Amino acid sequence: MAAASACGGSGCGPHCSSSAGAEEDAPAERLGQLSISGAASTACGKCDGGGATVAVAGGVGMCGECFRAHLFGKFKLAVTSNAMVRPTDTVLVAFSGGPASRVALQFIHEMQSKAIQSWETSNAQALPAFGVGVAFVDESSILSPKTKHEIESAFEDIRSIVSSLSPGEKAVHIASLGDLFASESEDGVGRLREVVGMIGDETGRDDFLQRLRMLLLQKVALENGYAKIMLGSCASGIACHVLSATVKGHGYSLPADVQYVDTRWEVPVVLPLRDCLAQELSLLCKLDSLKTQQLLDRPGSGINSLVASFIARLREENPSREHTILRTAQKLKPFSFNKFSANGYHDFLPSRLRPKFQNVDSNESTFTEILCLICGSPFSESELQNLESTKHKAQKKIDLYTAHCCQSCRFQIIPSDTNMFEHFFSLLPKFWTDKVNSASASHNTLRDQIEDYLLEDDDVGT
Ligand SMILES: [Zn+2]
Ligand SMILES: [Zn+2]
Repeated sequence: MAAASACGGSGCGPHCSSSAGAEEDAPAERLGQLSISGAASTACGKCDGGGATVAVAGGVGMCGECFRAHLFGKFKLAVTSNAMVRPTDTVLVAFSGGPASRVALQFIHEMQSKAIQSWETSNAQALPAFGVGVAFVDESSILSPKTKHEIESAFEDIRSIVSSLSPGEKAVHIASLGDLFASESEDGVGRLREVVGMIGDETGRDDFLQRLRMLLLQKVALENGYAKIMLGSCASGIACHVLSATVKGHGYSLPADVQYVDTRWEVPVVLPLRDCLAQELSLLCKLDSLKTQQLLDRPGSGINSLVASFIARLREENPSREHTILRTAQKLKPFSFNKFSANGYHDFLPSRLRPKFQNVDSNESTFTEILCLICGSPFSESELQNLESTKHKAQKKIDLYTAHCCQSCRFQIIPSDTNMFEHFFSLLPKFWTDKVNSASASHNTLRDQIEDYLLEDDDVGT
């Protein structure tokens, strides 16, 4: 089972296919250079403090305190230098129950506590403190059967973890994947199961569920007025995504997924733990006794789990391999939606960071990429050409939907039987297909507006 774990069982976010219970299968010796050595024989490389020493992959030994500060420093730097959170924001933390998102929740809570403190001590002269809420995606409706009692106690754990974080009251939103398909008459679980059942490919199904999870987070954020969604995606999970995306032929859109910021979504998504390893985060949870809850984790499958076990192998040989993979992928040019524009951020930024955001061209702030209807990948040149030619032929709506999907999704997710096409798209939530409808409508309006100026075939040569 340990082989199927993407990130040491950290369940670190959208790209992670880690499985529950991996921790028991990964004894301390296998953690390589990343371990807690009980004896205080080695001194901390950063301070003179004693205590248990932690060795970080490729770095010096550290005491627990310094190790903690090291990770928090990375998190805080990612948040501030990318202007991830404005003082007026409310941030929705996607908490899977695993160590990675647990650490994200802990760290953002600490930043919030400090902001609250300085707001209070300064008599409201400082910047206001941002808000934090927590979302848990309940996938139990498509998981291997869990008893009602198990599910309820998992929810209870999640709520108690969040309520232990004060000051700063944090709302907990527990949402089920079925909610996306719900209508006035039904709860949506039936539709969810039917749509997922139509996807024959195991990897396709895994990716589709991943997409649903992100869409559900968007729904929760939009309905409750959150300005950002924070994921616990860490270097290990993203390294898995880099390799599996390459295998699936997603190379063109890959750079979009390995950045700190993703504004493709209506509510932007941020990844402040991108530079931390899953093992480091698990270790921190152990050191600080941060409670986790992974009862409802869904193990990955198909290519995703194969790649995860491959990465686990690499990690055994050398714990810094995951960093290497991530750094290599980061050399690819990101898309324009991978940063926040200067609008609304400038005033809150430290002056040394302002030039970084001033350079954003105002034309660039609204991006022009066409995104795959299913997975959200930006379209490559050939996919764009295909879409253009389909649009001009103006046939059935179903052809338009298909043309709005990237090659990989057409191959792995959309049913290959043409008769099932229509049914598949009819089952998808309305807001999903509406995007294509409005895109093609605006295309048609444009055509109507310029119709008088278009040359008809008969006009040519007269
Ligand atoms: Zn130290
Ligand atoms: Zn796609």
